[in-house]
Amino acid sequence: MFERSKQLFEDAKKVIAGGVNSPVRAFKSVNRDPLFIKKARGSKIYDEDGNEFIDYVNSWGPAIVGHADDEVIDKTKAVLENGFSFGAPTILETELAKRIVEAFDSIEKVRFVNSGTEAAMSAIRLARGITGRDNILKFSGCYHGHSDSLLVGAGSGSSTFGIPTSKGVPIDFAKHTLLAEFNDLEATQDIFKKYGDTIAAIIVEPVAGNMGVVRPEDGFLEGLRNLCDRYGALLIFDEVMTGFRLTYGGAQHIYNVKPDITILGKVIGGGFPAACFGAKAEFMEYLAPNGEVYQAGTLSGNPVAMACGIATLDILKRKNPYKELEKNTQKLISRIVGLGVEYGIPVSGEAIGSMFSVFFRQNKPTNFSEVNQSDLRLFKNYFWGLLERGIYIPPSQFESNFITIKHSLEDIENTIVAVEEVFRELSEGRFYI
Ligand SMILES: *Cc1c(COP(=O)(O)O)cnc(C)c1O
Repeated sequence: MFERSKQLFEDAKKVIAGGVNSPVRAFKSVNRDPLFIKKARGSKIYDEDGNEFIDYVNSWGPAIVGHADDEVIDKTKAVLENGFSFGAPTILETELAKRIVEAFDSIEKVRFVNSGTEAAMSAIRLARGITGRDNILKFSGCYHGHSDSLLVGAGSGSSTFGIPTSKGVPIDFAKHTLLAEFNDLEATQDIFKKYGDTIAAIIVEPVAGNMGVVRPEDGFLEGLRNLCDRYGALLIFDEVMTGFRLTYGGAQHIYNVKPDITILGKVIGGGFPAACFGAKAEFMEYLAPNGEVYQAGTLSGNPVAMACGIATLDILKRKNPYKELEKNTQKLISRIVGLGVEYGIPVSGEAIGSMFSVFFRQNKPTNFSEVNQSDLRLFKNYFWGLLERGIYIPPSQFESNFITIKHSLEDIENTIVAVEEVFRELSEGRFYI
């Protein structure tokens, strides 16, 4: 079923480090070779062997309107045909910026970059520049890209591989990153009592997605806001995953907490590389060329990426699909958890908007330590079983799954049928691995 992908992976490994350009793609944590994807459309993805899958990865978040939407293709193509990069301003950058500023009351100005990593790294520099302080505080299991200061206790690929702090990150950099457990306001307060006047910013995923989906407990985000206000630190919401995914805006609108700096990515490029960070005008004035915090990018605000982002946001604004997405995700996750009970498999599920995770542990995790108590052998078998049945989910327990506006009720029913078959096999002790 996967012969050609296997061969293509062998070829790739000869010329690309590990055969992939982002570690989680390698399927290492599920002991398989990755699929090479040929094309995708709507809710479906197709590999080089000609297999069709219902896709729950969706480019790790950007593809919220489904793959290769006709309207997005048309609008992006029209821009592409006029040239793809000029290193000079275009109207499209202003157009996308206006949409973001309009959607977020915490943002008056933005700066576009090419990836979430770059946006988070730049937001941290900005916060340090504004406050004149060096330390930052982050939460275990939250992922903010792979820059030096932020690869400490990081989620996503790094937790999967058990290297929370990468080699090559100087201890002198890492020591400026203070670490607390997600949802642990008390521990965060204690850190602030000790180091509060040295902390430039708290950076947090307001809904965690990179340790699997973990929701903020009541009062957690407000508590962080209060701590920042009391100690003169900035609150940074990393909404690279949640921005325009949970609502036409961010998690900050759902939980009604206003950060100082917001980081966006993924959906705002619609699948092309685009990300940004934004804040009130006074803060953004610290950036070069007006201010003294340096930040730059040759391909930043690339017109093709801007056009794809604008087309994607315009569909979301027009269709306002968020209630429907939430309903479908809830349906899927509650059926999966129900099947877990029926077949005696320890599963819990978290779903917020169109993000969801199935955890192989009895209760929903509230932080990274609890996520780590999941049964990874069960997860691996779940992954294998679904893949063999045409369901493509992230190859790691520590990731969010996504649905798009193109996922039909039939897709969801077919997924549930596959999950039931897999759970039945597991309950009978039939394991793939
Ligand atoms: C994906 C992600 C990033 C990193 O974005 P890249 O574009 O992969 O560099 C940062 N923060 C969060 C919350 C993310 O989900």
